[in-house]
Parts: sequence; C-alpha cells; structure tokens
Amino acid sequence: QPLVEMRDIEKHYGNIIALAGVSFSVQSGECHCLLGDNGAGKSTFIKTMSGVHAPSKGQMLVNGQPVTFDSPRAAMNAGIATVFQDLAMIPLMSVTRNFWMGREPTKGWGPFMRFDVQHANDVTMAEMTKMGIRLREPDQAVGTLSGGERQTVAIARAVYFGAKVLILDEPTSALGVRQTANVLATIDRVRKQGVGVVFITHNVRHAMAVGDRFTVINRGRTLGTAARGHIRAEE
Ligand code: ADP
Ligand code: ADP
Repeated sequence: QPLVEMRDIEKHYGNIIALAGVSFSVQSGECHCLLGDNGAGKSTFIKTMSGVHAPSKGQMLVNGQPVTFDSPRAAMNAGIATVFQDLAMIPLMSVTRNFWMGREPTKGWGPFMRFDVQHANDVTMAEMTKMGIRLREPDQAVGTLSGGERQTVAIARAVYFGAKVLILDEPTSALGVRQTANVLATIDRVRKQGVGVVFITHNVRHAMAVGDRFTVINRGRTLGTAARGHIRAEE
C-alpha cells in the first residue's frame, strides 16, 4: 500500500487548468521522480501534495485513508514534508538553530524553561555526521555550507522530525556536478531508511541516477509512468 496516493488530481487557477488529472503514488523506500518542463504543473503538484492549497478535484490518500489538508502543517502532521527551493533556512544562523527552528528542545519548566543547547547540538552533529557532513562546530552558520550541504541539512531535518514522505523541489537544479552527486547520495540514504521520496526535477539524468519510478507530466497531464526495470539505461 502506498504511503501517499494522489488520484486524478485537478487544479484550476480561475480559467487556467494547471493540473488536468494527475495520478501519482509513493511507497516506503521508493524514489518516485516527477519530471516535466517549465509550466508542466510541477509546482502546482507540489503545492497540492504538501497542503499549500487544496486540489480542485481528485482524491488524496495517506496510508489508504482519504485526507484533505488545509495547510502545510496538516500535511506535515501526516508525515509529508516538503523541502522547497528556499530550504526554509536562515543563512546567518547556525546549523543547529536552523535544524531546530520552530521545534526548540527545552529543559526546565515555567519561567526556568530554556533552549537545551547541549541536546540540540548533540543531535544536530550526530544527524549531520550520518549524512556525511562534518561540521567544524555546531555554531557554524548555514551560509558557510555549500549548496548541496544545505540541501542535505534540510533533508536530514525533515527526516529527523518524522517525515515518512519527502517532497524535494528541484533539489539539484542550482548545483554543480559534485554537489549534485552529494545530494543524490543523500536521497539514496534516506530512501534506504524507508522514507518515500518524491523527486521533482526537469533533469532526466539526475532522475535516472536515483529513481525507482518515473512519471512525466506535460501541460498538467501525465504522459507516462515507468519503473526503473522498464527503462534500458544506455551508458
Ligand atoms: P512548473 O512548476 O512545472 O513550471 P507550474 O505548476 O508552476 O508548472 O505551472 C503550471 C501552469 O499553471 C502554468 O501554465 C502556470 O502559468 C500556471 N500557474 C501556476 N500557478 C499559477 C497561479 N497562481 N495562477 C495562475 N496560473 C498559475
Ligand atoms: P517554478 O519554476 O519553481 O515553478 P515559477 O517562477 O514558474 O517557479 O513560479 C513561481 C511562482 O509563481 C509559483 O508559486 C507559481 O505557482 C506562480 N506562478 C507561475 N505561473 C503563474 C501565473 N501564470 N500566474 C500567477 N502565478 C504564477
């Protein structure tokens, strides 16, 4: 049973039909790539799946149960996290502060309650190490990391806070070859932990490198879906 299933999703903006019936699902441990050119409907799809806006038509199921999300928070509570291109991080703040933004671990109670710096640092350092990023110190600013590392921090953060499904919005589009390889390795790592990854991209090569399934959309419609075993990759 898929973690998340989108059935015949339509999204209209006034007279513009951005999605005209797209179906899509993702399983635990699977990387399902959504491919499409500019204007195909990828952003609209992401916004629908992540709860930014409701579909005009169609059904969404989580673990087989119909759901309606009225906010990204609601989707997150159902285990669906999205890493948007802005990464929702503040470059001047430390990796630790960014990692815990909005979820500060505290100790004490009442007027004595405060941010548990030690715990936050320890968890952040451990999670970063798992992802192959060696921080010089937990106070290192996010802005000092490479684009690929920042992307990995955002992914690690979402997974640490319980994402079962991770929607990645063009995570490699602004990166060079080495950084891209690192991000693809991160995707592979979280997939092996059982996370279902929705990899939104217009880069066919990047999709081929990690995808288990591929769906191509154009003008809001599905052109086709294929599993990895059904595509013969030429070297
Ligand atoms: P992609 O992310 O694949 O480039 P989008 O989902 O952004 O595609 O856009 C799909 C179509 O919907 C395009 O024709 C776009 O112009 C239109 N569109 C997207 N967002 C809006 C909006 N807020 N209002 C009106 N039209 C929109
Ligand atoms: P992307 O390529 O990442 O989809 P775009 O530059 O196409 O980004 O779109 C940026 C934002 O503007 C998106 O949130 C999209 O929904 C919105 N948008 C895109 N096309 C239109 C449009 N024709 N009218 C209004 N909003 C749009």
